[in-house]
Amino acid sequence: MRTRYPVTPHVPEPETEFKPIGIAVFDALGIADPEYTPGEQIALMRLRRTDMANEVMLRLQAQGHRATGKDYWRLRTRRLADKNVDRDFLFLTPVGKHRADALARTLAKQFGLHHFIRSESRYHANLTCTCGWSTSLSLNQGHMASQVSRAAARHFMAVRDREASAQAETSMPMEAVHG
Ligand SMILES: [Zn+2]
Repeated sequence: MRTRYPVTPHVPEPETEFKPIGIAVFDALGIADPEYTPGEQIALMRLRRTDMANEVMLRLQAQGHRATGKDYWRLRTRRLADKNVDRDFLFLTPVGKHRADALARTLAKQFGLHHFIRSESRYHANLTCTCGWSTSLSLNQGHMASQVSRAAARHFMAVRDREASAQAETSMPMEAVHG
């Protein structure tokens, strides 16, 4: 599956320190993130609906995995999802969202996807990509929003160039054969 990199990459808003109360309790008790079956992973990603979650979901489906009603039901029994009774749809609880985001990052990294995670302190903005690339921008450098999106765009361009040259290398022998 080939990825298209937008000229203006999507950079999410800076993350806050807010933790759902359920997660804070799990952390305090030292309970690690649970394991999910591929079906449960797809169900979580589908309910989360962020760009990263959507792309991860497509990769899982491309591997032949599917989510069944049982997978959604198990998310409900683990209190990661709940049902809106009036309008009959499922939504993620705050703990479910937190778990889904953590899972999306882990899987995005495994799939080699490029999605940005942004955090800000008083003097710096940190931009991290799920591929491992990261940069830190000083608040003295002027308009932070445009700094961040320029840095993100530069990363996408570098990735695109790298993929293009990898593509050229693999197709070289064929072109040589056909003159
Ligand atoms: Zn990246």
